[in-house]
Formats: sequence, structure tokens, C-alpha cells
Amino acid sequence: MTAGLKKNGTFLLNSLWTKEEVPNHLPDNVKKYFAKNNIRLYIINATEIAEEIGLGNRTNTILQSAFFKISNVIPYDQAVDQMKKFIVKSYGRKGEDVVKMNYSAVDRGGDVEEVEIPKEWADIQVVAETPDDAPEFIRKVVRTVNAQRGYSLPVSAFSGREDGTWEQGTTKYEKRGVAVNVPVWKPESCIQCNQCAYVCPHATIRPFVLDEDEQKGLDEDVDILKAQGKQFAGMGFRVQVDVLDCLGCGNCADVCPGKKGEKALEMVPILTQYENQKNWDYMVNNVSSKAHLVDVKLNVKNSQFAKPLFEFSGACSGCGETPYIKLITQLYGDRMMIANATGCSSIYGASAPATPYTKNEEGKGPAWANSLFEDNAEFGYGFVIAHTSMRNHIQDLMQKALQSDAFTDEQKGLFGRWIEFKNDTDESKKRQKR
Ligand code: SF4
Ligand code: SF4
Repeated sequence: MTAGLKKNGTFLLNSLWTKEEVPNHLPDNVKKYFAKNNIRLYIINATEIAEEIGLGNRTNTILQSAFFKISNVIPYDQAVDQMKKFIVKSYGRKGEDVVKMNYSAVDRGGDVEEVEIPKEWADIQVVAETPDDAPEFIRKVVRTVNAQRGYSLPVSAFSGREDGTWEQGTTKYEKRGVAVNVPVWKPESCIQCNQCAYVCPHATIRPFVLDEDEQKGLDEDVDILKAQGKQFAGMGFRVQVDVLDCLGCGNCADVCPGKKGEKALEMVPILTQYENQKNWDYMVNNVSSKAHLVDVKLNVKNSQFAKPLFEFSGACSGCGETPYIKLITQLYGDRMMIANATGCSSIYGASAPATPYTKNEEGKGPAWANSLFEDNAEFGYGFVIAHTSMRNHIQDLMQKALQSDAFTDEQKGLFGRWIEFKNDTDESKKRQKR
């Protein structure tokens, strides 16, 4: 958080807390840094202001104005003047209301407050960080890059990755907790339609089906419904929110049909929902997939019982593309190869160190690569040619084996069936374990 903040520097925090409350929420190492380096700390509740003036969650103009207010790079009056001229140029065609709203954002950006930094913060004893049980690659490389200290990594940190391959599913370790509001589930109004999970761009709300043993691992006050459908007989159903990965877009609550005019999802402040995170952690680590009990390709509801193999991407809150990508991975992700063109989908698809493409319980997931800006058709065609050549080669070897005495009848039977079903995905999958 303080990387790049120089001695005597100024720090602006978009804060939901008041200036009296904010010291209780700053990490000790940050407080100490502020005091030792004579930092001036300012706060502004841009989130609340944006909502108040009708800008929803768009805080950038407010924060830009706040920046000019405290930075003194040019006189503040002049900055306000220039920002307003630019607003007319950018939004003039959208009407007077939009212009006025953005004018208010500029004016309210001046509502910054300075927080006093007590001298005693310099003497705070910073205790060591809590032990991290994430894999070594996450602790040593991913966390370092995310903390903007990637330059400190030695070349040896990448030993074994000289070809550019990267771990899948690193986004699940980020737990950014950046939403202002997150959904809370109200089981009494839930019809188990799974539409919430279907539209979620970030795979942060999912239906889980739990058998009796799996239900025992949850606290008694955690709500579980009786799962609908005879294939789930005796099992429980719960819609679970991943509080710390949710981006607060509200799409799930918007789409939720609920029951008798009452939605089963309500957006509430994230501060009230931190306790719910442990239920998500329990679900993803202890509740097995029940997707094999339904035909996941049959309808929307069933598709959402399959684990998304694209989750917690850094796409913008409410992104309209990522629910489709997520859905494709739920249906075909275990056998998917992606030749990505360059654009939004390559940026949220793999901005090192974040990789949202991940693996299922069998360790299978999409293989992903991006080459140049607009060459994905040729790039992907290369995948197809290479893959087809390898499969043809395997078939040639098997056909030779069928004529040879060096193989048993059982082995020859397997080879024959592989050849027969090699272009039938479901049949081929059934046979692959043998
Ligand atoms: S608020 Fe948005 S990101 Fe969060 S769970 Fe709902 S749809 Fe997903
Ligand atoms: S969309 Fe609403 S009713 Fe449907 S499963 Fe989700 S919470 Fe339940």
C-alpha cells in the first residue's frame, strides 16, 4: 500500500470510515510508515458521495478532484475549471442532467478531510504476518508481484517455468474484498433456480448440494434448504456467496426471481458479511461436486451445479462477457484449449500473476494462451493442426498394435474402442480412465 510513497508524501484514501474510525482499520505497518515518513493522510468517502449524487459506483471524477485538492500540482480553482470544461466536452451530448451530476462530482471531490497522524505510531511494534498456508509459488511469486514488488524477485524464482507456463487458478488466493455491498441469501424466498450463479461475472455466488455428512461441518445456524429433485434425495441446498471475491455488481440480486414478490438475495454492506466467508471456504474445500447427478448441458439450472473453471477474474464489476466464458468452462472446460485474441478477454484472462482459468477435482481445466493482437485464428488453427497430428499418430500406433502379437486381447480391445470413439466427447471421456 505504501510502495512508492516518499518521505513527506501525501496519501489519499477512499474510505467508508470516518476520520475518527479510520485509524482502527489501518494495518500497523502502514501506520508506522506514515508516522516515520511524515506522511499527510487524507480521506474522502467517494463511494457514498457517488451514490448520493446519482453516479452509482463511479468514483473516479470525485477522486480526481480530491487529488487536485490535496496535491497542489496546479491551483485547485484552475483544476476545477478545467475538469468542468472537459465534462461539457465529454458529456455535453448526453444532456444537462449528466453534466450537472459530473459537476457535483468535481465539487464534492473537495470534501477531503485530513487525518491526524499521532507521533506514537512510529513506535508501533509490527507483529509478523499471520502464517500463510498457500502453495509456495503463490507465497513467493504471486503475492510478491501483487504487492508491486515483482522487481525484487530473482530470476531463480521462475526456475522450471522457462517456457512461460504459469499456475492455474491463482486468483482464488487474492481475496481482495473490494465490494462495497455484497449479496446475502434469504432461503425462505429461494426457488433454487440458480440464475444468480448463472449471471455472476465473477463466479462468486454458487449453488451447493450437500450430503448429510457435508452438512454436519457447518455451524448449526447456517441455513440449508432441502434440495429439489429426486436425484438429490436426502441432500441439502445452499446458495453461498464468496464475500471476499465478490465485486458487488448486484447482477445476482437483480436477476433473482425470488418468491411471492420477495427476492432471495439482498445487497448489504460487506462489513456485515465477513463472517459468511468461512462458509464459502468450507463449501469449496469440503463439499464435493454433485454435477454428475444431473445433465449439466440440459438447462440453466443444471449448468450451475458444475464447477466454473474460470473464477474471480479481474474483469470490471458486472462484466457482460465473463458469465459466458464461465458458462463455457462449466460445460466444456475440462477439454478446452483457448487461443485468445488480445483485448479485454486476454487481460482479465491472464494478467500475470492472476490466472482465473482453473482446474476441476480431477485436475483438468482449460489450457490458455495468447499470442499477438489479432492472430488468434491462425494461432488457434495451429493448435488444431498440432492436436490432430498427435491424435492421428496415436491412432497409427494403435492400429499397428492391433496387428501385433505383443499386446493382450484386453489392450487391443481398449485400442479398438479408443479409435471407434475418438471423436465422441462423452463416450471418449467414459473410456479415458481405463
Ligand atoms: S454482486 Fe455481482 S460479483 Fe457479487 S455475487 Fe452477485 S453477481 Fe457476483
Ligand atoms: S436467483 Fe434467487 S431464487 Fe434463484 S437460486 Fe439464486 S437466490 Fe435462489
